[in-house]
Amino acid sequence: MLEITNLSKSYKTNQVLKNTNIVVNDGEMVALLGPSGSGKTTILRIVAGFIEANDGDVRIDGESILDLEAYKRNIGVVFQNYALFPHMTVRQNVEFGLKMKKIPPQERAVRVEEALKVVDMLTYAERYPNQLSGGQQQRVAIARVVAIRAKLMLLDEPLSNLDAKLRRQVRVEIKELQRKLKITTVIVTHDQEEAMTLGDRIAILNDGCIQQIGTPMELYEKPSNQFVAGFLGTPSINFFEIEKKNGRCSIEGITVPDSCMSDIMKKMPEGEYVLGLRPEHIQLSEHADGAFCIKVNASLVENLGSETLIYFQISGKKYCSKVSHTIRLEPGEEMMIAMDINHGVVFDKAGKNIRAL
Ligand code: ADP
Repeated sequence: MLEITNLSKSYKTNQVLKNTNIVVNDGEMVALLGPSGSGKTTILRIVAGFIEANDGDVRIDGESILDLEAYKRNIGVVFQNYALFPHMTVRQNVEFGLKMKKIPPQERAVRVEEALKVVDMLTYAERYPNQLSGGQQQRVAIARVVAIRAKLMLLDEPLSNLDAKLRRQVRVEIKELQRKLKITTVIVTHDQEEAMTLGDRIAILNDGCIQQIGTPMELYEKPSNQFVAGFLGTPSINFFEIEKKNGRCSIEGITVPDSCMSDIMKKMPEGEYVLGLRPEHIQLSEHADGAFCIKVNASLVENLGSETLIYFQISGKKYCSKVSHTIRLEPGEEMMIAMDINHGVVFDKAGKNIRAL
């Protein structure tokens, strides 16, 4: 189990981590997700022992590791460029960490075999890294972590050097391997799809601050703020301006019939808010139960094969709906949209989910 408590880090006047708290349970995989510069790699580097924190603690199984030198922490790190030694074979690459730890030759040989078998790379043991695909190199990098019997695996953007198709394939492999090995893992990524598929839980960072930690679906369905809502999901969630006045609600100035008001709309105090509604919760229909239906014009239609994205505008602002691929529409055509407001998330003007207040 990894516990990161009140971790802070500054570079001169630039505070890049602010009181970060994350717990990664035994055997769990947590994804650190956030835009570039949000502090993800800094957390990873502090845990790995490459840089020092200004404040806070990092514990593995209850024991602080911050005073230990990096090589004594029993942590395996997999970088985006794999960091395999090009002049060494696969076997020698995996053996290297064991030599550093002064493991005797006989045991080294056993552990290398074991590790390469686990990642299904035993038949490639005598090859050099440049004779392997990107995915295979990544597996060798993981074998090195397995061989040293690391308590914790840190993956730093491990898929960013791969093309889109291979990324998906290696992503599945990494997830399967991690499940099989039951090794506690932290993965850094800026790719929300990667975090959603790999992480048992995701910690979302912005500007050095943790925004929310939870399972992918918790974050997707119950984002604690507008940043989290906007960061997860493609196409992005739609944000509509809403106002409650004299007991009535309006969305972008259009009055919502009482029968369509969501529970949260009924309960919330009068004022101005933002409604977050995902594209899949805006369908084309005139008769959807409890949905708020309005007429708009399709401005752009994108058929993606399994689904269709229809973009439209209200008050000059662009929105998106995700509908069945069977729907055929031409840009400019009028359509009736049904907004499933009950699936919406309401944020206050500061961007906080009002359910969390
Ligand atoms: P991420 O991994 O989320 O892209 P980083 O953790 O790499 O973000 O960086 C967080 C912030 O810390 C950035 O603003 C970056 O410029 C700054 N930073 C990182 N390393 C250094 C350094 N060695 N010196 C000064 N600033 C740094």
